[in-house]
Amino acid sequence: MARRRGGPAPATAVASPAVLGTVAVMVFVYYSTVFVFLDHWVGLATPIGAAHAAAVSLAVAACFLAFVCAAGADPGAVPPAFAPDAEAAQGQGLKSRYCDKCCMFKPPRTHHCKVCRRCVLKMDHHCVWINNCVGYANYKAFIICVLNATIGSLYSFVIFLCDLLLKEHDFDILYVKILYVSALTTILS
Ligand SMILES: [Zn+2]
Ligand SMILES: [Zn+2]
Repeated sequence: MARRRGGPAPATAVASPAVLGTVAVMVFVYYSTVFVFLDHWVGLATPIGAAHAAAVSLAVAACFLAFVCAAGADPGAVPPAFAPDAEAAQGQGLKSRYCDKCCMFKPPRTHHCKVCRRCVLKMDHHCVWINNCVGYANYKAFIICVLNATIGSLYSFVIFLCDLLLKEHDFDILYVKILYVSALTTILS
């Protein structure tokens, strides 16, 4: 089969187990933070509860949107018409600018990803959680996603602590214990 010349990643790559797992973690953290900890701490019907719920929803929505952009975007295709500048490449040798797998010349800072099986412009790394390379076109979305995930996790952790320390819990009930332990592990990881 002929190699693609830096074309977009297959659409099926987006729905990988790791991506679905990441989405499941987001849903779990959101659900447990808002509908369990926050509801138990101040109640969702109170003004402070509604305000926290809106803020958490906003943080999770922003994180999810950036995640979709980073996972679904083409990280950076090499323009089909790209030809190396012979003068600039003289020092490094033209061979180092040629990808044997894609059978094409690649611009500086372009690397071949073994997972995506293609060359990616300004490739940073291949991220299993988005099942995509982080490169020229989705670097910003990836950073925003990581930033939002950090903010969301810290926010969730504060709500978790407030509920845990300020309210009574019946940890003799097994599912309550499991829920709090698994939520804490997920939020901190
Ligand atoms: Zn390549
Ligand atoms: Zn990749």
